[in-house]
Amino acid sequence: MALIVQKYGGTSVGDLDRIRNVAQRVVRTVEAGNRVAVVVSAMAGETDKLVAMARELGGDQPPPREYDVLVSTGEQKTIALLSMAIQALGHRATSFTGAQMGMLTDEAHSKARIRSVDSARILAALEDGGVAVIAGFQGVNEAGHVTTLGRGGSDTSAVAVAAAIEADSCEILTDVDGVLTTDPRIVPAARKLDRVSYDEMIEMASLGAKVLQIRSVKFAMNFGVPLHVRSSFHDGEGTWVTQEEDVMERLVVSGVTYNRDEAKVRMKGVKDQPGVVGRMFAPLSEAGITVDMIVQNLADDGSTDVTFTVPKEEYAAAMERSREVAAELGAAEVEGDENIAKVSIVGLGMKDHAGVAQRMFTILGGEGINIQLISTSEIKISVVIEEKYAELAVRVLHAAFVESGGAEPRPES
Ligand code: ADP
Ligand code: ASP
Ligand code: MG
Repeated sequence: MALIVQKYGGTSVGDLDRIRNVAQRVVRTVEAGNRVAVVVSAMAGETDKLVAMARELGGDQPPPREYDVLVSTGEQKTIALLSMAIQALGHRATSFTGAQMGMLTDEAHSKARIRSVDSARILAALEDGGVAVIAGFQGVNEAGHVTTLGRGGSDTSAVAVAAAIEADSCEILTDVDGVLTTDPRIVPAARKLDRVSYDEMIEMASLGAKVLQIRSVKFAMNFGVPLHVRSSFHDGEGTWVTQEEDVMERLVVSGVTYNRDEAKVRMKGVKDQPGVVGRMFAPLSEAGITVDMIVQNLADDGSTDVTFTVPKEEYAAAMERSREVAAELGAAEVEGDENIAKVSIVGLGMKDHAGVAQRMFTILGGEGINIQLISTSEIKISVVIEEKYAELAVRVLHAAFVESGGAEPRPES
């Protein structure tokens, strides 16, 4: 008998028939002798609708407390409906909102971090074959206000519940067969990975593979929760996200990802002096703007250009702050570009293979795709390119590195 957390995403609970199917799957798992806590998302499209309504009445920055009260209602509908469907099959089920189950978070509305979970309430609900049906994505802060965990946050709720109740595993049930080598919406030939390490998954999630929210993977790694990403539509095995030692196949490239949600800012003609770059970024960090890639180019005349990327939703603010600081620093000009995409390849095997970056750049060059920025780590290479080439880049890189059976490393020159 195992203690299992099952998380069902939006598409999997997208209508009443699907909720009935989920109820049947939960009941099957209980009847097989397991204890099951279920975490659910809002029905597909529901959160988007709520966010759009908040913006219509509340503007670009709706009041944070009311925003969370509103967007958390999507999950509240699903827990009630799923509990009813489980009860209709003759089983006990109790629904819990984040506040009811004691999912305590910090104060940061719409991107709250989980502080603690009251495991006793959940475990009590599981006694004698009962099912706890928990709303994902939401919590409550010290002052009793409803908070939410950021888009895709139900994954993190599920891992937090699994860690709190010391579950044997946390199943993430979704609309694809597992973690795939790339987004199947772009490359239908994307294949399922049997195992992937926490580190690879953290890179993939942060570089755009939205199958898991990045925080959920970090949480799972820190608490040693094995994650099983699998289809909610059939019983086939999915992908285990686990310790590196348990990943048998060290693929050179296990995933190709893309992210269209960043924009580029370039400050030109800055004096090449100690302290200047620090001053350039100070107003951005004060404004809470997260900077991702940074590249500095030195010119012969003793000046320097600094280019960096920020999330698109923070682009306008980043341009405004950069123009202000450019005037103070005597920089020549600030340019911006929203039409960019970041395309990346990720794989544990890159650690022991030379020539992967060179091959990636050659493939993109062969398609006439210009590389604007590059960043690397031990297990990933990312490039920024013009947005219109994002899908083409993903397809050719997937074909070369994954469909052809992996990278053919060239000897180090
Ligand atoms: P859920 O609603 O179940 O949380 P999401 O829509 O958040 O599901 O995540 C699943 C989607 O992620 C898939 O439908 C797929 O289009 C997309 N996706 C992007 N990259 C990947 C990848 N590497 N592996 C699997 N799915 C991916
Ligand atoms: N419903 C929320 C969202 O759409 C949380 C989730 O599905 O994980 O972002
Ligand atoms: Mg999701």
